[in-house]
Amino acid sequence: MECIFCKIACGEIPAKIAYKDDTLVAFHDIAPQAPTHILIIPVKHFSTIQELTPPDRELVGEMVLLANRLALKEKIAEGGYRLVLNCGKHGGQTAYHVHMHLLGGRAMHWPPG
Ligand code: AMP
Ligand code: ZN
Repeated sequence: MECIFCKIACGEIPAKIAYKDDTLVAFHDIAPQAPTHILIIPVKHFSTIQELTPPDRELVGEMVLLANRLALKEKIAEGGYRLVLNCGKHGGQTAYHVHMHLLGGRAMHWPPG
């Protein structure tokens, strides 16, 4: 298994884990772009969000709901936060295991660069 996020999900590579259950893992980004920067991943490997299909709709929904709960826990819910899913080269994806960024603790800019 070559995927770094699969290795984090199974505990083979250490990470600062924020949440873990049988289907989802959340851990702090190694190069945080905001005071709070957490990555939420499915335990199951998908390279990009293009690989997700209708049977995965509950999994995708759970990722958003977990982000909301973590935002509360991290005390960024009131100030507001951003969820990001990068897909492929033009989307700026660098880690090819589906992940959702939870960013908060500072004001974000729009549009992105
Ligand atoms: P993306 O550009 O959307 O593919 O985001 C990949 C993210 O994974 C980047 O924000 C990286 O800083 C982060 N990252 C890469 N390797 C690790 C790691 N070992 N532990 C935590 N975060 C990582
Ligand atoms: Zn993987």
